[in-house]
Amino acid sequence: MAKDIPIIDEALADAHLPALMMSLVHITGDASLLSDDMKPAYDFFAEGRLGGLSPEKQAHLRSVAKAALTAYLAGDGKLPPPPSPQTLRRMMDFIVGGEVPERYAGMLMEELAVDGVDQKKPHWESPELKAAASKLKVLIIGAGMSGLLAGIRLQQAGVGFTIIEKNADVGGTWLENTYPGCRVDNPSHLYGYSFEPNHEWPMHFSTQPVLRDYFKGCADKYGLRPHIRFNTQVLEARFDEAAKAWRVKVRREDGAEETLVASAVISAVGQLNQPHLPDIPGRDSFAGEAFHSARWRHDVDLAGKRVACIGTGASAFQFVPEIAPTVAHLDVFQRTPPWLGPTPDYHDRVTPGEAWLLEHAPYYEKWYRFWLFWMLTDGLYEGVKGDPDYKGDPTAVSDANAMMRQMLIEAIRPQTEGAPGLLEKVIPNYPLGGKRSVRDNGVWIAALRRSNVELVTEPIKEITPKGIVTADGVLHEVDVIVYGTGFTASDFLKTFKVYGRGGVELHDQWAGDARAYLGMTIPNFPNLFVIYGPNTNIVVNGSIIFFSECSVRYIVGALQMLAETGHQTLEPKKDVHDAFNAKVDEANRWMAWGAPQVTSWYKNAKGRVSQNWPFPLVDYWTATLKPNPDDFVLN
Ligand code: NAP
Repeated sequence: MAKDIPIIDEALADAHLPALMMSLVHITGDASLLSDDMKPAYDFFAEGRLGGLSPEKQAHLRSVAKAALTAYLAGDGKLPPPPSPQTLRRMMDFIVGGEVPERYAGMLMEELAVDGVDQKKPHWESPELKAAASKLKVLIIGAGMSGLLAGIRLQQAGVGFTIIEKNADVGGTWLENTYPGCRVDNPSHLYGYSFEPNHEWPMHFSTQPVLRDYFKGCADKYGLRPHIRFNTQVLEARFDEAAKAWRVKVRREDGAEETLVASAVISAVGQLNQPHLPDIPGRDSFAGEAFHSARWRHDVDLAGKRVACIGTGASAFQFVPEIAPTVAHLDVFQRTPPWLGPTPDYHDRVTPGEAWLLEHAPYYEKWYRFWLFWMLTDGLYEGVKGDPDYKGDPTAVSDANAMMRQMLIEAIRPQTEGAPGLLEKVIPNYPLGGKRSVRDNGVWIAALRRSNVELVTEPIKEITPKGIVTADGVLHEVDVIVYGTGFTASDFLKTFKVYGRGGVELHDQWAGDARAYLGMTIPNFPNLFVIYGPNTNIVVNGSIIFFSECSVRYIVGALQMLAETGHQTLEPKKDVHDAFNAKVDEANRWMAWGAPQVTSWYKNAKGRVSQNWPFPLVDYWTATLKPNPDDFVLN
């Protein structure tokens, strides 16, 4: 007789029931649980964790799960034969509470990885490929999430590489952003490399130190540190046409300049790391301390000070509630409010019961990740896609978008009760999906309602030595200004010059309008690859780690194509590049973020959406499985 497991009741009480059902199919080999009356039904206002099941059905499921898990853990650890591909397909439909279109099946099977196989891992196994790999020397710029990933994959392929990193450690954005409250707004169990799951995330949304340590841990585990040159700044990269190689000038830690030679260069410098300081008249005249959120001055004690925060984007949204209780007074200058997406567990810890299930219930973790992946990716796409026949007002782009807008307003409304005028101030007048929405568990509006906090919506006119003057002539006297004003995102690869064929400089070629083929390759720049390049950002559907994993697979595939064909360089054909960009532009026109009434950093100075991928995620996955030699000029 199986012994009681002390934590099992607690674990089942906290379980994500749809993922638990999937685990039970693996444990019992019995798919009869996937009956229509147990199929999850998700409701915007209800907890997805319970799958919309009635209390009676929940109780039934927990009792079946208790018996099955207890017996399994008391047994020899053997599972029945794995579900057939057809059953897995049914399980996918079941857990999402709908029907997953067939074209997603490959991508989702790979994400699910029930067989434990890391399908994106490169395999350069033939002696010819191994020999070719040993001759390649790839230079990766940046040791953040994407650069480390490129290093891991190149190492697995047997390709030589060096990572140049300007900072003293790895982690990129998760090293640099240390502002109070900094955390990711993708669920922890999704925001990690697909091949490096972590069952021990302490919170549902990881804080910056936890993510920094995760990426440090990956750098250590994969032995990347000996390949990284820290405190080294790339100054310029120049393609040597005669040698068919890149010459990359760097400034070393000791201040000396050095030129490195590489067969290919991968830029992994990110989009969101050069602070944007707004062009407000008098900005530099301010007599107090002033700093940007991504360069937080921990030496400036805000306790008891009068503080101004300019901006109400994702960063300010996180640090305002943190600093509000300690400052004497906080003026929050809002130009445009963000959309608030209800996320009750945003600051919650993973309970011991949940952690136990992730660790012990077979395949529970995989299906939980799968569920998060679907719910946060293309499951949301249609809601932010514009309908050309939409006749409503410009606060939405389709009837579905207008309906979601209304649902979000209803979720915000109760938070503003008893605070006259606040609801009007915090409801965006642009469509949902126009800008990145933020995750709301109530702390933002609670902070704005504090007696020592004022939400200022009057436009800023100027900054003076004493503070900030708004258009109505009011001087808001402050001791400290914190700029939560974002990044110069559309200036891709801003911090160094890149000279391609014929000496053309990349930024001159772009002329303020960065474009690339699939975000990665650019005509005239042979063997230059960009991760998180133009039009590879996502607004609602997905985690950027997924994009980087797709890009890196494609880049390693491109190097493999060179190795297999005996060519030394590749660059995209101009007509292929242009046709791709024309398709992107046309599609972006119809997304909420491309709507003419929306202004944001997703659009460059020319008004073109240069940041975002406008198609479903599955299209990027499909397009990047393997480079097509016909798309490239090979030399
Ligand atoms: P952001 O989203 O670009 O927000 C900048 C804020 O500053 C906006 O409210 C903007 O208003 C305002 N602003 C800019 N110039 C201004 C001016 N001249 N006068 C007044 N207000 C001005 O920047 P961010 O908050 O740093 O976030 C950037 C991106 O980083 C996010 O979208 C996200 O992708 C990423 N991020 C993610 C997380 C996370 O995962 N939790 C956290 C932080 C950042 P307008 O909207 O009117 O332009």
